[in-house]
Amino acid sequence: YADQAMYFAKASGRNQFVFFGSQARSKIRGDNQMVHDLRHGLNQGQISVHYQPIIDVKTGRIVKAEALARWSHPVQGVISPSEFIPIAETGGLIHEIGDFVFKEAARVALSWSKCAGAPACGHPRISVNRSPRQFFGRDGVAPWVQHLIDNAIPGELLGVEITEGLLLENQPEVLAQLKQLRALGVAVSLDDFGTGYSALSYLKKFDIDYLKIDRSFVRDIVEDEHDRAIVEAIIAMAKRLGIELIAEGVETREQADLLAAGGCNLAQGFLYAEPLPEKDFLDFVLASGASC
Ligand code: C2E
Ligand code: MG
Ligand code: MG
Ligand code: MG
Repeated sequence: YADQAMYFAKASGRNQFVFFGSQARSKIRGDNQMVHDLRHGLNQGQISVHYQPIIDVKTGRIVKAEALARWSHPVQGVISPSEFIPIAETGGLIHEIGDFVFKEAARVALSWSKCAGAPACGHPRISVNRSPRQFFGRDGVAPWVQHLIDNAIPGELLGVEITEGLLLENQPEVLAQLKQLRALGVAVSLDDFGTGYSALSYLKKFDIDYLKIDRSFVRDIVEDEHDRAIVEAIIAMAKRLGIELIAEGVETREQADLLAAGGCNLAQGFLYAEPLPEKDFLDFVLASGASC
């Protein structure tokens, strides 16, 4: 595990020796094993994509969807992306996994746009998460752009979700990559809004289409006055900037009603549906009585 040890030693500063206790060692061993399993799993088709509907609270219509990666490990069962995405990032696999999820989402979005799977599927835009690391190294967004062009997939069918930290660093490279995606019609969402540095100046500089209010604010919105105040402020600001809002992690009717009353019309959460496999998503759309 020399490579990994070296990496951590470097990360902790120059000319420093780092000694690992047995706990750290077994974590490194575990992570290395996971990178290995993940690479193998990706090749073996163990990674799949689920789709969570995003609902217009007032009409109940499904207007968008978020693509979320899933890993079915043959021994450990389903492993959460909050566990394996960070491992993919440090283990150098995030480009492969990210590209796989994007292509899969693009395929599904195209099929929904043709209503191929069901006569009443509607055509919700599908947004795909993109880690900061995916903007650096390799060829940036070029593979995504090329994939859309090669397969004649309209960018309007897709979106990209990024986090605040990425914009804060003020990299012209990031701005250029987002511009390339937007030029094709791909929407840009700012994910987990409110949990990062929330330096609001970048909202003006970067063209952001959607703000996703983080689940941590939505959770206690009914009981907690402070959370309600923060959400109200976010809504007021987004409105003035012409940015649409999506509330994450909506689990109760009370939360949805409160958000809608405050002016946040789109919601995503277990109240409506958890992330679903492609087929189940279509069944959910049909059951909701939507039509094209
Ligand atoms: P995220 O992008 O903020 O995605 C929303 C997360 O909230 C998802 O967790 C979703 O299942 C969960 N969620 C939705 N509604 C509710 C609710 O009502 N209650 C609760 N408690 N949770 C809800 P998930 O699928 O486990 O994904 C976790 C994170 O992993 C994502 O957070 C995203 O940051 C990352 N991720 C997932 N797929 C990908 C991917 O393909 N690429 C990258 N780079 N990151 C991904
Ligand atoms: Mg997201
Ligand atoms: Mg989120
Ligand atoms: Mg979140």
